[in-house]
Amino acid sequence: MNTQHKETGELPSPGTHTDHLLLTLGIFLISILLSTTMTAAENVEPSLDADEQDFVSWLDSQEDNMVALLERITNINSGSLNQAGVDEVAAIFSEELRQLGFSISSLPGEVINMPSCPGSDYSIDVTEHVLASKPGRGTRLLLMGHLDTVFPPESPFQTFRRNPDMMYGPGVADMKGGLVIMLYALKALNQFGDLQEKAITMLLNSDEEMGSLSSRKYLEQQAQLHDYGLVFESSSNDNLVRQRKGLGQARFVVHGLASHAGSAHQQGRSAIKELAYKIVELESMTDYESGITVNVGVISGGEARNTVAPCAEALVDLRYPEIQQGLDSVARFEDIFDTVFSYAVDSGEISTESWINLHRPPKIATAESDYLLEKAVAIGRLLGQQLGITDSGGGTDGSLTQAVGLPTLDSLGSAGTGAHSNREEARISSLVERAKLSSVLIHRLAAE
Ligand SMILES: [Zn+2]
Repeated sequence: MNTQHKETGELPSPGTHTDHLLLTLGIFLISILLSTTMTAAENVEPSLDADEQDFVSWLDSQEDNMVALLERITNINSGSLNQAGVDEVAAIFSEELRQLGFSISSLPGEVINMPSCPGSDYSIDVTEHVLASKPGRGTRLLLMGHLDTVFPPESPFQTFRRNPDMMYGPGVADMKGGLVIMLYALKALNQFGDLQEKAITMLLNSDEEMGSLSSRKYLEQQAQLHDYGLVFESSSNDNLVRQRKGLGQARFVVHGLASHAGSAHQQGRSAIKELAYKIVELESMTDYESGITVNVGVISGGEARNTVAPCAEALVDLRYPEIQQGLDSVARFEDIFDTVFSYAVDSGEISTESWINLHRPPKIATAESDYLLEKAVAIGRLLGQQLGITDSGGGTDGSLTQAVGLPTLDSLGSAGTGAHSNREEARISSLVERAKLSSVLIHRLAAE
């Protein structure tokens, strides 16, 4: 730096010399900063190669077919407990995947027993899951999606509707739109002979909306056998999700003592009263500061107005950003279930049965999952899709696979909102957009 100045022969004043030094240093540091942030934030992907351009232009001609398939499967109710409906959607995808060269096997479901009040059976009978596998060379990819929705057959929200830009109906966002996108991304590769060599497995589970209680073991097994995981849950508002909270659920049943509410009120032990006290304790665990939320979402109980209730039950949802918070919450749940709040003297007539499950660990970002995320965002840019990055309180199966070491990118599905409500909707153009994104992403990852 000194020589420079000497060369001009001018001897600058001491103050100025330091200023110059600081200035140059500052500019230098800023340029370093800029260049590093630029590369980190804006992962640059090579432009589309000939194959990829073929995928993209072929997909441009497939919107009607994709919407037609989505309409067909949306109009089939596949609430998690509607086995016939789930199996029907599974059969449609199994046939489509067979035609693409996948071998199809079914993974057994199971009955998950839960405590219940006499007369109400809350056990969950999960139907089988679909495993579609195709051996190949190179990077092994695990594609995931769920066949079930939250809407039971008796729900009024049953059918597919559309207008020029938007589609509405149970699952268009969560996540039948994503199933169609996943399939058409593979169809695009297959169309140009690019699928044959690839090592791809697809796991379609039937119980995600119940917490993947049966399919978890299969997801974790398959995670160990692959290099990357791709989940086609909704990309709400054109965002890809980087991190997710952990999820837990609990079911508890309070047993009390029935009595005549008029003539023997004192002899009774109201299970509903005890349930109410416990609900207040549970809900008070919510702390937005720490990110923990507890929601008692379903309650039932009692037999008659004039009978002190012998039994009452509830279903609880838990969200937590860090695993330790999840474990601490479980301990607090157990405390609340074991304590009798509603009667000064716990004479043993009140007891509580409970079932607690931290069914999804938090999805914590890793360098590998960030790599997948940035690659997808960069490919999106190549395709003219401005994708954002966000965190979410909602859970997916990607949390399970990432937690056992499989770098997983979830939210590659349709751009939609209103999941789990009768306001569920998705943007029609996102079907082709996301299928393009995924076909290029799969093509590039498989070649690594
Ligand atoms: Zn979902």
